[in-house]
Amino acid sequence: MPRQYTYGPFRSRRLGLSLGIDILPKNKLCTYNCVYCEIGPTKEIISPVYRIKAPPSSNFRKELKDILKYVPHLTSITFGYNGEPTLNENLLDFYAITLDVRKDLKWTNEPPLITLFTNSSTLYSRDVRERVKHFDLVLAKLDAATENDLISTNRPHKDCRNINIVVESLVKLRKDMPNKKLAIQCLIYNSYREDFISNDNKENIEQLAYAIKKIKPDIVQLYSIARIPSEYWIFAIDEKRMKQIVKTFKEIINNDLIEINYY
Ligand code: SF4
Repeated sequence: MPRQYTYGPFRSRRLGLSLGIDILPKNKLCTYNCVYCEIGPTKEIISPVYRIKAPPSSNFRKELKDILKYVPHLTSITFGYNGEPTLNENLLDFYAITLDVRKDLKWTNEPPLITLFTNSSTLYSRDVRERVKHFDLVLAKLDAATENDLISTNRPHKDCRNINIVVESLVKLRKDMPNKKLAIQCLIYNSYREDFISNDNKENIEQLAYAIKKIKPDIVQLYSIARIPSEYWIFAIDEKRMKQIVKTFKEIINNDLIEINYY
């Protein structure tokens, strides 16, 4: 039977051995069109109020079980990969089956985390946060903390261009999931174009740190481009710059309970 929902498992820099779960249609569905997106440009940028109804087919449970029994050392079952998974109204149906399958199997170490990637644009909705809060680990994107940087880096749908709403949604999500882990992911890059200001600018980096201080996530994951980006005129920042950003973050956030890592 061809695989419909799963990718990998593969080695992830941040998650260890991870099995990818894609619950979106095969064409990319996203509210953003990030300059660095590794799955190519978003052909039609979707409003954050748009939802698809795509419940798991009867194959999902079987497909998951068939793969998971071969990887008792898996560390994460990770929802994401083809756009924004919270756009699927049936996210929790997939989660419930995954939880059930995980319970039934034997694991070499701790059972894998059930992890969700989100670009954070839909989290203003209480319904979405109610679904998201169940995941063991939520990896929420925040590359920008000024409106200009949000627009230039993530190129969002016109209905999700307010950076204050995004940050406030993350503050609310943190409160909604006190016993689960929230990681903020910041992808920082640079640009070869003189007429384009990348998100690696002083104001954005400082405002990001202030936003994180307010959100109080468990973890901050800083990283840069590792695969072919959507736009040819951007490039990865180096380790030296990454360390400077970590230093700025630590100075402003000033909270030892927040773990700051870079990759
Ligand atoms: S949010 Fe994710 S999937 Fe959507 S465009 Fe950005 S990187 Fe790509």
